[in-house]
Amino acid sequence: MEDHIMISALCKARVNPIICSTNNIVTQVNVEFINLTGYTEDNLIGNSLSSICSMLNIHNQIYLESMERELRCYIFTKEYEPREITISCKSLNCDNEKIYQFKEYPNSRIEDKIPYVASILSDNQKGIAIYSSLHRILLKANKKYLDFLSIPHDELKDILGNNAELRSSNHIFAKVEDLFIKVVQTKDTYYEKEVEIIYYNGKITYWDISVVPIYIESEIKYLVYSVDDVTEKVINRKLVEEQNKEVGFILENISGELVYINKYGDYIKKNKRAKDNPLADYSTVKNNRDAYNKAEYYEMDGTLILFENTPVQRLIRGEKISRHMFIAKNNNVVAYIEVTGTPFYDKAGSFTGGVLIYNHVTERIKKEEHILLETQYELLKRIIENLELSFARFTYTDYKITSINNKAYNILKQINEKAVSYSTIIGETYFSLFNLNLYEIDELKINIQRLIEKKVPSYFKYRTLIVEGEEEKYYKVMYQPIIGFNDKVVEVIAIATDVTEEINAKNQLEKNLKNKEEIFVNLSHDLKTPLNVVFSASQLIELYLRNDSLTESKESILRYDSMIKQNCYRLTKLINNIVDISKLDSGYLELKLSNENIVQVIEEIVQSVSEFIKEKGLSITFDTNTEEKIISCDPNKIERIILNLISNSIKFTNPGGTIFVGIIDKGSNVEISVEDTGIGIDKEHLDNIFERFRQVEKSLSRNTGGSGIGLSLVKSIVELHGGEISVESKPNVGSNFKIVLPARIVENPKVIEKSNAANNRINMINLEFSDLYSNGY
Ligand code: ADP
Repeated sequence: MEDHIMISALCKARVNPIICSTNNIVTQVNVEFINLTGYTEDNLIGNSLSSICSMLNIHNQIYLESMERELRCYIFTKEYEPREITISCKSLNCDNEKIYQFKEYPNSRIEDKIPYVASILSDNQKGIAIYSSLHRILLKANKKYLDFLSIPHDELKDILGNNAELRSSNHIFAKVEDLFIKVVQTKDTYYEKEVEIIYYNGKITYWDISVVPIYIESEIKYLVYSVDDVTEKVINRKLVEEQNKEVGFILENISGELVYINKYGDYIKKNKRAKDNPLADYSTVKNNRDAYNKAEYYEMDGTLILFENTPVQRLIRGEKISRHMFIAKNNNVVAYIEVTGTPFYDKAGSFTGGVLIYNHVTERIKKEEHILLETQYELLKRIIENLELSFARFTYTDYKITSINNKAYNILKQINEKAVSYSTIIGETYFSLFNLNLYEIDELKINIQRLIEKKVPSYFKYRTLIVEGEEEKYYKVMYQPIIGFNDKVVEVIAIATDVTEEINAKNQLEKNLKNKEEIFVNLSHDLKTPLNVVFSASQLIELYLRNDSLTESKESILRYDSMIKQNCYRLTKLINNIVDISKLDSGYLELKLSNENIVQVIEEIVQSVSEFIKEKGLSITFDTNTEEKIISCDPNKIERIILNLISNSIKFTNPGGTIFVGIIDKGSNVEISVEDTGIGIDKEHLDNIFERFRQVEKSLSRNTGGSGIGLSLVKSIVELHGGEISVESKPNVGSNFKIVLPARIVENPKVIEKSNAANNRINMINLEFSDLYSNGY
């Protein structure tokens, strides 16, 4: 009873906050307790001690029911304010009644000790919690800290008063307690960045964590635990790292050289391949300008690429570059490169950078070029071989032979002793093989350069390449350029055509023209000679007439008259021949064909000249194997040619010699021969004896008064008859002219005036033999 009164008195006394319990149920509280905790009597009285523990958030520190002595701890007011308290317990006379005294430490309130506590807690970026160093229990926490602990906000009251160890057991992050111990031991701020925290639901978060010790009177009183959510930052960074790793992998494994540039053309990133670029040393090449200065860049058609038009500059201007090919040249290294570029833009649409991928395609281009060359070459070769031309193929610009064909090799063998085998020729320069002199080399080089500018084949003037025995061979050489991939001439093919025949014909023509000139000089002489004779003979006759010595001078006058006649014949023959030749040349010489007994025609001619021949001290015989052979012919023309042949025989046979005229009927044709035992003709002259204006020996011809027209006319007339003429002759033995005429009959023969035939013949003999008299006069 006494005790009871004492409790009541205690409770009423203005001392420390007190609660009393009977059988662990609160029975009384004093006003101080109510003031301290903020709870009302109604909240407290009738509750069990354990629910009081819960209300005050002390159950993690103390059990009121079982406490015996005094204990220091933190309680929490209704407003969750921590109060540092010493609780002491006293049992009264009977065990069932207890008095708990809550004695608050003076000046212990956290807001007194840390005046800025409210402002730290109001930070809504970081999670802040204040723990006591005593028992390491949670005293205060802001909303963000609850997020960190993944605890709903209305549960704040449940966790206040929990110690770090307990708190952390609720959470995978079990290091809190360790951290606190460390901070207490080291007395220093602990800081850890990007701590990975995995929640029960598997969510991964990252936090920058710090624990700052707060000293009160040189003792650590509080631990301010701050957590900063850096999950997004870390995840983003990790993502970027991951992407970078992946991009890096792609970059390194990409087949080409990859360069990432910024808007100034600086190389920001490049893959390993790009770093190993043989053309650009990237240790010194930092941007597009450096690269441009290091090498020369050309378009595929050979035009120089200006800096503004480089792929990088185009990319910077926003152009997308798709497989653009160009050529880079650096220290004689030539590379064909294919570039693809993609520009990047920011949200505003301005260029921020771009990626260029360079692929070296030199090998591929070379292969393609090779195919291109070979196709052109093969086509040409086929044409050349078909035409049986000779060709040599050489490189441009060093003129080294790469191949030649058989025909060209055969030429080379004859003009160059170096050409012992095909393989010795390959690799030699074109000029050295064809023995060209310096002047010729220069001329040829200029020529080839000219053709290369135009890229079309061109001819070079013909050259004598081979001298085969006595014969010179002439070749016309054509040069055909072989165009490479970028439209450049890489090889040249020299094609040689044998133009010996043309050149010879040309030379012959020139020679003939010269001959003709000479002949006309001779002809005019031939025309003048008989004229002079006629002129002087008529002057002499005139003299005799004026002297009135006609009778005495009768013989002389007759001789002069005969001379005049003779020379008139000579002139007539010459003029006739010239007229006939002109007629022949213009195709106007026509035969008056009739069917004649050729045996009779020839025999009559022989008979009519036999007297004359005898006078010349020669004999003539005639023989035939038939009496009659009718063939179509122009009898006047036949007479003329036989007279011409006999006249030649007389001319070139010394007195005592024999002339033989024979006819052999060979069925389909008739062979007429005029043979003599004269001076004969040298073998070298035999071939061209029938050529016009041909005379064996000028001095001799002059004496015999010929002009080299006769035999050519004979030949033409024989051929007009469809026949042939040939000659066999031996010097100092004699000559045999053979005419073969076809034995044909004409259907509509021309009627020949027979009555005049005899007169005609005498006339003709006088004409044809006119030059035979010249010796005497
Ligand atoms: P020309 O009018 O000068 O006689 P030809 O054409 O009749 O011309 O003869 C050409 C040349 O052929 C003669 O100059 C002569 O040298 C040679 N010739 C022709 N017939 C004979 C022959 N029977 N014997 C020797 N030489 C001949």
